[in-house]
Amino acid sequence: MEIIPFEEAYETVMNSSFSTGTEKVSFTDSLNRVLVEDITSDMDMPPFNKSTVDGFACRRADLGAELELIETISAGTSPQKSVSENQCSKIMTGAAIPDGAEIVFMVEDSNVLPSGKVRYTGSFTKENISLRGEDIKYGDTVLNRGKLINPQDIALLASVGRTSVTVSKLPVVAVISSGDELVEPSEKPGPSQIRNTNAYQLMAQIQRAGALGKYLGIARDDKDETYIIINQAISQSDLVILTGGVSMGDFDFNPSVLERAGVNILFSRVNVQPGKPTIFGVHSKALAFGLPGNPVSSFIQFELLVRPLLCKMMGYKWDPMTMNLPMENSFSRRSSDRRASIPVVITKNGLVSPVEYHGSAHISALSLATGIITLPEGRKTIEKGEVVSVRQI
Ligand code: AMP
Ligand code: MG
Repeated sequence: MEIIPFEEAYETVMNSSFSTGTEKVSFTDSLNRVLVEDITSDMDMPPFNKSTVDGFACRRADLGAELELIETISAGTSPQKSVSENQCSKIMTGAAIPDGAEIVFMVEDSNVLPSGKVRYTGSFTKENISLRGEDIKYGDTVLNRGKLINPQDIALLASVGRTSVTVSKLPVVAVISSGDELVEPSEKPGPSQIRNTNAYQLMAQIQRAGALGKYLGIARDDKDETYIIINQAISQSDLVILTGGVSMGDFDFNPSVLERAGVNILFSRVNVQPGKPTIFGVHSKALAFGLPGNPVSSFIQFELLVRPLLCKMMGYKWDPMTMNLPMENSFSRRSSDRRASIPVVITKNGLVSPVEYHGSAHISALSLATGIITLPEGRKTIEKGEVVSVRQI
């Protein structure tokens, strides 16, 4: 199968997206979920004119006078008296403003005279009143569908009394590692063995993307064993990620096994560095990725292709965080035939510096990196001081 440009791979993946459905959850369980309904307010906010300070409420024109104290209003109680000329009510933060009052001066700017009357002693005061409906009006849309719910949104849901909300169901992502050389992290690798790092990195990436990872273990480099586990994965998930076994080696038969399991492969090589042997296909029950076995390649292709897809499946338009910053030094590469993703750090001075990186198995380099920059096909060098777009990872 031919090698395709990254942009074409991205379009193919995004166009294959399907919705995983919706469910109702308690607002207390809705953090990091994607809303599939608009949320409107069932009341004005604030619901009444309220004091923003502890102080005395009076008429503006009476600020210079000695004021008769007529009542004390605490938060949660309603004022009983209306304030008229040369009168004031003592009022607490969050309490309702009494009729007749136009301003609240702070306790710190007041003096209670021996007669019991109150004087304003400041030279300037704001009104210190939040007006009914100034933040939100009854019926206003406070959250739009497609919003990824953050802690502030949960405050908003609480304030409008939405104790349950409809969100998209979490896509279930099955992860399978493959390779006879792999042992699990709790084991000490024997000669010629390595620890399975990729699956756990992917599980963490899936979690960070807001989806539900299901790790199915290591498939040995055996076609039948791999076939069985792929079938199992397809029946239990919305998306299957198989890592390893996708290059050109004698035991890299995963693409053909995916096909045998009914996956229609849409591409199997992308003109990127790292991550060229990235595979994507569709099945009537699930989508499937074959990602390279090397953890750096797999990490980057997940961020570039899988994460946007998972967000789209949840009905959320994800815009990765990017920053435009100058390069600390010039950078060049030997060959420019592929689109390259280069792991970088941002220095204390706000400059971009590629991490020292020995290749796509170099996970300690990736662990230091806080972003990636892109060099398009045909581009070999970036000059010192040139402004580049850093995508946060
Ligand atoms: P493959 O895609 O199977 O040819 O693997 C490419 C490279 O990635 C080889 O050096 C593998 O040993 C390594 N590799 C494959 N799977 C994993 C994994 N799950 N964790 C860490 N390295 C892996
Ligand atoms: Mg392998």
